[in-house]
Amino acid sequence: MAKLSELNTGEKGVIVKIQGHGGFRKRIIEMGFIQGKIVEVLHKAPLQDPVEYQILGYHVSLRLSEASQIEVISVEEAEHLAREHNPRTGNFMPTCIGCSESSCRFRDSVAKATEEEDALYRGAREKSKEITVALVGNPNCGKTSLFNRASGSHQRVGNYSGVTVDAVRGKMYYKGYRITLIDLPGTYSISAYSPEEKYVRHSIVNDKPDVILNVVDSSNLERNLFLTTQLIDMNLRMVIALNMFDELEHKGDSLNYKELEKLLGVPMVPTVSVNGKGIAELFNTIIELYEEGDEIESTDASGKYPLQKNRKDAASKDSVIGILKHIHINHGPVIEKSIDAIRQEIYKNPNAMDEYTPRYIAIRILQKDKEIEKVLDTFSNKDDILAARDREAKAIEKELGDSPENAIMDAKYGFIDGALRETYRRGERKPGKTLTEKIDNIVTGRWLGFPIFLITMYLIFQATFSIGQYPMDWIDAGVDWIGGRVGALMSDGWLKDLIVDGIITGVGGVLVFLPNILILFFFISILEATGYMARAAFIMDKLMHLIGLHGRSFIPLMMGFGCNVPAVMATRTIENRNARMITILINPLMSCNARLPIYLLLAGIFFPKNAGLVIFCIYLGGVLLAALMAKLFSKFLFNSDETPFVMELPPYRIPTWKSLLRDTWDKGKQYLHKIATVILIGTLIVWALSYFPTCDPDPAARLEHSYLAMIGNFISPVLAPIGFHWQESVSLLSGMAAKEIVVSTMNMLYTVDGQLIIGSVLTPAVALAFMVFTLIYFPCIATIGAIKSETGSWKWALFTVCYTLVLAWIVALAVSKAFAFL
Ligand code: GDP
Ligand code: MG
Repeated sequence: MAKLSELNTGEKGVIVKIQGHGGFRKRIIEMGFIQGKIVEVLHKAPLQDPVEYQILGYHVSLRLSEASQIEVISVEEAEHLAREHNPRTGNFMPTCIGCSESSCRFRDSVAKATEEEDALYRGAREKSKEITVALVGNPNCGKTSLFNRASGSHQRVGNYSGVTVDAVRGKMYYKGYRITLIDLPGTYSISAYSPEEKYVRHSIVNDKPDVILNVVDSSNLERNLFLTTQLIDMNLRMVIALNMFDELEHKGDSLNYKELEKLLGVPMVPTVSVNGKGIAELFNTIIELYEEGDEIESTDASGKYPLQKNRKDAASKDSVIGILKHIHINHGPVIEKSIDAIRQEIYKNPNAMDEYTPRYIAIRILQKDKEIEKVLDTFSNKDDILAARDREAKAIEKELGDSPENAIMDAKYGFIDGALRETYRRGERKPGKTLTEKIDNIVTGRWLGFPIFLITMYLIFQATFSIGQYPMDWIDAGVDWIGGRVGALMSDGWLKDLIVDGIITGVGGVLVFLPNILILFFFISILEATGYMARAAFIMDKLMHLIGLHGRSFIPLMMGFGCNVPAVMATRTIENRNARMITILINPLMSCNARLPIYLLLAGIFFPKNAGLVIFCIYLGGVLLAALMAKLFSKFLFNSDETPFVMELPPYRIPTWKSLLRDTWDKGKQYLHKIATVILIGTLIVWALSYFPTCDPDPAARLEHSYLAMIGNFISPVLAPIGFHWQESVSLLSGMAAKEIVVSTMNMLYTVDGQLIIGSVLTPAVALAFMVFTLIYFPCIATIGAIKSETGSWKWALFTVCYTLVLAWIVALAVSKAFAFL
């Protein structure tokens, strides 16, 4: 769809929709820019701005910034769409997208529509059935679950904050509408302090979604509605999903949401996004609101509940339109007076309405919002506005004895408190604590918190290994069988060697670990979905402070156990730059799942009785080293000052099987995909290097004079002190593309007559040193790339490569000497 601002002089367009906030839409619609009407560009001013248009026979001029919020299609497209989709049926009843008055001059003129105008109108209507809905809400209120339900996507959900760092888009078709859903990162407010807050506001203002879907956690309304009051200030077309309504009911509470929606002037629909309850109603409401919901009516700021005086007539209607009112959150007489004074000053600008409502600008600059102050740069009377702001801020401080920031926040909470007092009924509570409180007392308690955490982790690793053993043996046998069959069918030669020794042995050796990966991720999904992961972050907070970080860093570090690439990206949720840099730099020490096959292979061979314990210790070793490095970095590179730790502990939830299995399977799919791409290619390269140039029929002799051996011999003097041969050196080198390739390389290099001979070549101490080395040296090229893009410089990416290599060498050497007795 084109913007009206993109048309050239003499061109015509048919209006499809008006974007922007309510106040802006109302004004533009009042000027005659209504759906289905033809608008023609008459004349552009010398600097292209403003532009004169003809619409409904009038001449009007718009600034480019205004015209860029009007979407149009060509006359031909409108006619085409009308023919395609909407054969004329019954009486043509014009609706005017912006007003609900019983008679309006535009509607009257539309009613006189000729056949052709009717077609244009229908074409524009068809086109306007493409709508964008943005999901906005606190972390953990169920946005992603709702998004997945509605769009059929498989985004990750988790019972802790910080999982969604980027916006994800999904599509759905509903009742003839093509709806694009945007899952935005969770935020508690939109104050432009943290990257998420900035991101969300930027997305609302610049991407101009047609409808905002504010998802709230009904079992925690006081806090969730705070964000809602800020969205109301922005005057957006909005629907509230009262999500987790099941939990509210489960507590025995009740909410008169029919009353609450009138108080807030926003339609509400109770939903349970884990089982899909209420989602259809929700989208019905969204569509109804989109189609007709532009009734914009503000109330004065006198009474305690701004809607009191409208409630009677609103109650008589049961539709969205009956509810919809643009209310002003009443901040009390002192603040409202100040807002008004600043607003008057802002109104003096012709372009005051373009992006934000003047009221919103006034509220935000009273709260010293630097981003919104930048908006004032385009205003001619910026200095006057800021002077008014300073004057009013002083007045508020004097009268209320508090800063405007705090006073406005308190007023918003006061408003929510009042609204909930009228609508929320607490049910009978059984005496004593809730189950969540009881569990938390133990799990995050002073004495048991840590042991429980460690035991849980240990059990998970143990189970991963022991349960995984069975399917692993089956796959192993299967791969052997296939190798044998294929080998028997093919005649000797390099092609047979490539397929049997290269592809089947190499790739099969990595495929074997799929069950382990699935099991580990199944457990981690359980920890996330139940809410235990958030407790783990909480328990770790004290420790994190010891190393100059805080609880917020824990989630990205935890994610590193999966894959360091998204983990490095997840550090975006850390506001403090120094803490963020440290978290990025130590992230590679979190042992990602690509390294697991290496441990599984070697621990299985050298420590068959204690494999789980050994692997657990390796992971723990990584964590301890990360702590040590964090301490060093915060001392010598980044002096991170600690920001207070705010991490909420969501109630414990029983996860659904469906989401657990889907999460686990998503991981498995990623692993298989990686096997089929990076690992396969890497394996082929390593095979070719190990096969050529001699192509000697005797495998041992061939390998000894291969390119791979040359490379290995070249670098192995450096690694020899640890006890590594050229085979280990080459394996480590091959792991730079992806750590799984280490396993396939070892399988190729150490398979003699179909037997893996590592056990007789290495000593347990050297095997341990090898595991430690793979733990520490940088995970893969992709991670280094992520570090480069997140820190914005190659310097830190190279730094990570160097420090992890040096550290790996030192620690591996120490391990091979210290455990030489094994
Ligand atoms: P987001 O952070 O807002 O994207 O929230 P998620 O979609 O990741 O959900 C957080 C947790 O709440 C997950 O464990 C979900 O299974 C759970 N959840 C989401 N919606 C509901 C709901 O309506 N009822 C209940 N009981 N749990 C829910
Ligand atoms: Mg999410």
